[in-house]
Amino acid sequence: MANYAFLGPPGVGKGTLASELCSARGMTHVSTGDLLRAEIHAASDLGNQVKEFVTTGGLVPDSIILDLVQSSLDADGSYILDGFPRTIEQAERIELMIDSIGFRLDAAVLLMASDQVVMGRLTGRRVCRDCKATYHLLYAQPETAGVCDKCRGELFQRADDHEKTVRRRLEVYHSQTAPLIDFYDNLNRIIRIDAAADKATNLSALNEKIPA
Ligand code: ADP
Ligand code: ZN
Repeated sequence: MANYAFLGPPGVGKGTLASELCSARGMTHVSTGDLLRAEIHAASDLGNQVKEFVTTGGLVPDSIILDLVQSSLDADGSYILDGFPRTIEQAERIELMIDSIGFRLDAAVLLMASDQVVMGRLTGRRVCRDCKATYHLLYAQPETAGVCDKCRGELFQRADDHEKTVRRRLEVYHSQTAPLIDFYDNLNRIIRIDAAADKATNLSALNEKIPA
């Protein structure tokens, strides 16, 4: 049983690839973005606290994220962390979880694609309001425009996928999250995957490079 964190710019496909790999291998997918959006949707106290950060493309404070994630992990599972860690502080705190909850991160998986590629993917992304399935205006069109193939729900654009916000998310990625590449490199615990191709190609690269 191994635990991995998926690292990479917004739009590189962390969410989709993590969820497919988890279903194929019986691992648990923990997405901080999904957890935060669920809280926002439920209008919980936590949701109201984080809404501004998420919709403007900034980062939610480390302490909030750490509480959220720590309660989702334990020593016995096998996890893919998606969207976490995103700062050096978060990465350092994960290293301490072996003592507190017995959780050990085996490797960070760096998914790589250029800003230009991820920009196009994100601004064209559409999400089902009901089942959260994702589509793309160019690469993964639904049968009927604006309608989910799976559940007939309405497709919409996430507020943080608007072009201006995507630019901000990329800036935040380069300044706050990219330093994690060196962090895991120095620990000799990074696996690099070229993720600029289509989903099937990226998935087989992952299967090849990530030990079960
Ligand atoms: P993406 O990886 O495509 O940017 P996510 O769904 O992972 O999107 O995250 C959406 C937003 O949620 C981020 O822009 C940020 O505001 C917040 N968020 C998610 N994970 C974290 C984290 N580990 N630390 C701080 N903020 C986070
Ligand atoms: Zn749907």
